[in-house]
Amino acid sequence: MVGAGIVGVCCGLWLQRDGHQVTLLDRQGPGEGASFGNASIFATESVLPVAMPGIVGRVPRMLADPLGPLAIRWGYLPRLAPWLLRFLAASRTSRVEAISEALAALLDGCLDDYEPLLAEAGLADTVVRRGWIGAHLDPAKLAGARPSVALQRAHGVEVEELGAAALRQLEPALSRALAGGFYYPEVAHSLDPYAMVVGLARRFVEDGGEIARVEARGLAVEEGRVVAVRTAAGDRRCDALVVAAGAWSRGLAAQAGAPVPLDTERGYHLTIPEPGVTLNRPIYSTEFGMACTPLATGLRLGGTVELGGLEAPPDWRRAEVLAARGRKLFPGLSVEGASRWMGFRPSMPDSLPVIGASPKLPNAFLAFGHGHLGLTLGARTGRLVADLVAGRRPVVDLTPYRPGRF
Ligand SMILES: Cc1cc2nc3c(=O)[nH]c(=O)nc-3n(C[C@H](O)[C@H](O)[C@H](O)COP(=O)(O)OP(=O)(O)OC[C@H]3O[C@@H](n4cnc5c(N)ncnc54)[C@H](O)[C@@H]3O)c2cc1C
Repeated sequence: MVGAGIVGVCCGLWLQRDGHQVTLLDRQGPGEGASFGNASIFATESVLPVAMPGIVGRVPRMLADPLGPLAIRWGYLPRLAPWLLRFLAASRTSRVEAISEALAALLDGCLDDYEPLLAEAGLADTVVRRGWIGAHLDPAKLAGARPSVALQRAHGVEVEELGAAALRQLEPALSRALAGGFYYPEVAHSLDPYAMVVGLARRFVEDGGEIARVEARGLAVEEGRVVAVRTAAGDRRCDALVVAAGAWSRGLAAQAGAPVPLDTERGYHLTIPEPGVTLNRPIYSTEFGMACTPLATGLRLGGTVELGGLEAPPDWRRAEVLAARGRKLFPGLSVEGASRWMGFRPSMPDSLPVIGASPKLPNAFLAFGHGHLGLTLGARTGRLVADLVAGRRPVVDLTPYRPGRF
């Protein structure tokens, strides 16, 4: 397998449960990619794609404001164009309905697939179910969010609209300027997403798995099957291959016979050890595209989308602006001692991951492209990949996520 992020490690654990001998190849330590610094939310309510109707009209603003919640780097635009066109096409109402259905099917009960993995790794109490809140400062944005919330409800998501006073009762740190928001009581979060990957990876090794710190540079293919992964340290022979290399999966997927339009939505975070405010649960601001999550390591302000590819250096102003936005939501917030981070979400233009066998090489399996939902869907993906490798009927119909859908 290539990739030891949350998706790769979960695939490894589920494959191990079927008795396979699994090796994870990663050029970094487990969980040091996008899985290191995400907002830590099991976003089971997230049945809507990133590109919603109306997004086309926002493109000029995305280009003009490099610090906006959704921004495009000019220099990357020529390379991004094919992905961006597909992304915008996915925002058509008919597509949004189909994508939402596919996301809802994948998300339904997905935390159940974490349960045995977390329990066996001794991590069950590091995931808490305290719900989360979508908070709005702007009354117009609050009203504008209602149709999306209605769509979520139609997919069975439990959500309640609450006024400012009721929200401040739940979360006294919230600003008095709040217009109102939405409370999702069923949503859970991890108290430390990086420690979670590390803990799961430790269990994987204890159970006989191998993690090798090495870069996968290509594949050796013989008679229509992958027989080895080429690395700087020589070939690693395999009976089957799983590509779970997050935002970097595109090249390996193409070599495995599955060219896919994968790109990245870069995101930033600030983690504040002593924020001076207490949050009981994560709070999300749609206006700022930012989640605020109470973790064991402090308060994390994270999110936003920057379409800028894998190579450009971070624009740290995007992390710093999170502090000013955080203070608007929580006037008592102190950001002293905050650490900053940028990560690469592996993003498909239709907001659906790629989960399936290669159309060309039947022993190559693809498991990437989870965008904003990689933490949420890690264990579900692992279980589905194990079903595919075993030739079992998967617990979810995988047609919408097939690699050849483009
Ligand atoms: C700011 C931010 C907030 C987010 N918040 C949430 C959230 O609240 N909830 C949620 O569900 N998701 C969230 N996400 C998304 C989530 O973090 C990702 O979808 C998820 O981490 C992807 O996991 P992965 O295992 O596919 O990729 P990664 O964690 O990036 O792992 C891929 C691994 O592959 C390795 N690799 C790549 N290429 C090679 C190669 N050629 N050879 C060897 N190794 C290779 C990399 O080193 C890396 O370790 C957020 C993301 C960001 C950036």
